[in-house]
Amino acid sequence: MPIPRRHFDALIIGAGGAGLNAALRLASAELRVAVVSKVFPTRSHTVAAQGGVNAALANVLPDHWHWHMFDTVKGSDYLGDQDAIETMCREAIPTVYELEHAGVPFSRLENGKIYQRAFGGQSQQFGGEQAARTCAAADRTGHAILHTLYQQNIRARTHFFDEYFAIDLIRDSEGVVLGALVLGIEDGEPLVIAAKTTLLATGGYGQVFRTNTNAFINTGDGMAMALRAGIPLQDMEFYQFHPTGVAGKGMLITEAARGEGGYLVNADGERFMERYAPSARDLASRDVVARAIVSEIRAGRGCGAQKDYVLLKVDHLGAEVVHQRLPGICDICRVFLGIDPAQAPIPVFPTAHYAMGGIPTDPQARVIMPARHGPEEVVPGLYAAGECACVSVHGANRLGGNSLLDILVFGRAAGQDILRYVSENPHHRPLTDEDIEPGLARLQRWARRGDGERVSVIKAELRKLMEDHCGVFRDQETMSHGVAKLTALRERLDIVRLQDHSQVFNTARIEALELDNLLDVGTATLMAALAREESRGAHSRVDFPERDDTHWLKHSLYSLSEDRIDYKPVRTKPISVDSFPPKPRVY
Ligand SMILES: Cc1cc2nc3c(=O)[nH]c(=O)nc-3n(C[C@H](O)[C@H](O)[C@H](O)COP(=O)(O)OP(=O)(O)OC[C@H]3O[C@@H](n4cnc5c(N)ncnc54)[C@H](O)[C@@H]3O)c2cc1C
Repeated sequence: MPIPRRHFDALIIGAGGAGLNAALRLASAELRVAVVSKVFPTRSHTVAAQGGVNAALANVLPDHWHWHMFDTVKGSDYLGDQDAIETMCREAIPTVYELEHAGVPFSRLENGKIYQRAFGGQSQQFGGEQAARTCAAADRTGHAILHTLYQQNIRARTHFFDEYFAIDLIRDSEGVVLGALVLGIEDGEPLVIAAKTTLLATGGYGQVFRTNTNAFINTGDGMAMALRAGIPLQDMEFYQFHPTGVAGKGMLITEAARGEGGYLVNADGERFMERYAPSARDLASRDVVARAIVSEIRAGRGCGAQKDYVLLKVDHLGAEVVHQRLPGICDICRVFLGIDPAQAPIPVFPTAHYAMGGIPTDPQARVIMPARHGPEEVVPGLYAAGECACVSVHGANRLGGNSLLDILVFGRAAGQDILRYVSENPHHRPLTDEDIEPGLARLQRWARRGDGERVSVIKAELRKLMEDHCGVFRDQETMSHGVAKLTALRERLDIVRLQDHSQVFNTARIEALELDNLLDVGTATLMAALAREESRGAHSRVDFPERDDTHWLKHSLYSLSEDRIDYKPVRTKPISVDSFPPKPRVY
């Protein structure tokens, strides 16, 4: 039986902040827009964002987008592309006002302006005093933003395919992207969504690590789809470990806890960040704080019977501030730890949080392919935005509050460029049965019921492997062992058992598809990390402890089909201001 087809001007895969901000722009311009999401849109991980979104509004302390740009370049350990960073920091200001007008209930100051809090890595005057740049709706900012964007999309008549799982992109023989093959999760039926443009906005892949802050759905599907379509992934070795996850569990305790005045102590009760970052202390960049915590524990100064965590104190701030500014954190502490953070310190340990790397794009969110000879090429009809993309504004380390900003700014940029593309390419291109073949083959591969182990067994091993072999501190020997184990895992996945008595068959199939994706992005991460012989941002090599700008100030590109890594230069030229040249990074 032929597979049913639906036609749209624009297909958006992913209903987080990036996908919905792009969709809103397009639906408001009367385009026919389809948004596909494997969960109900408001369950996308954006909903969990706690601390806030950065914009140099200067509501609390003096500020300027150019200072924001400096902090972001420095935070990226000079690996971020400065044209994209300038775009993001300038656009931040109108973006937040646009959200305010769309109905996001931001927390307010006494004078009615949007409240802004201090976050890590923020400064005034290019590295001076701490800035206060993060606009927040208490500690539930992502929730406020995602619900507002969803409601605005309903009003603009965006067409939602809720609980549809994207299998693979559809590309024709000339390489033009024609849409995607998706699967109805409820009925298990495939569907072709043909579109003039396709935007990947599928979010991150934190589930590849055992202890992480991410939703269960963050399995890197869009990134793996890009890999299978022949598009390399950029800078995958840079994965952020957030310093303050609930110890042993991984749930996020937002940086806002430190922004509001909280601080870390070791078993001796010492404020150890003073030794690692004398001026910024607890509000140093995340990579710096995460390494400091792990170093304290390795030096035997961890807390508890196992000496395996440190404490985050906010109890000195008073119950009123803690309960009003950090209500979500209070909930997490009550439910998972049985404590009230206004009374008792929180046990914390670094937890896998955010992918700096992803699908390479330009600042218009168009997916770009490296050409081995000559200039980069745009993949026609394909866009990527949000955590699955690498534009690259975060380089080797993202600053808190810059991801919500990234997804909104580049989600909207994607919408704008799609409008241009569709007006220049008004007709659907022919889509043949052969174009769908690769996606169907993948689907069929996961329709048979092998006799090996269960998906969950292999997944648990993968997550443990990534944590043990590609964590906060890395070295050649540990990572090489990790690569060997990954290869063995892939062989076991080939004969995975899809049905058992406790699972519905289709659910197991989705889990297998996700695990397949996780294995691909995990491989990209580990291979790129093994190849980069320096320490920069979140990538910290014990055997190469220094940053090496002479050899390594460049982006990595991992391609699956050839299992190889190429490199491309950093775009160091901003649009309208001078470059910030690399300097030693101290906080
Ligand atoms: C706990 C937590 C707190 C955070 N707090 C902050 C913060 O305070 N400030 C900040 O700046 N950043 C924060 N971040 C980071 C930020 O929230 C995320 O990077 C960002 O929200 C990602 O948005 P996105 O639109 O790219 O993807 P997501 O919001 O993750 O959405 C991905 C979408 O893709 C869909 N999808 C994925 N795969 C498929 C598939 N195969 N088929 C169909 N649909 C698919 C999903 O259903 C979902 O709709 C936080 C992250 C976490 C985990």
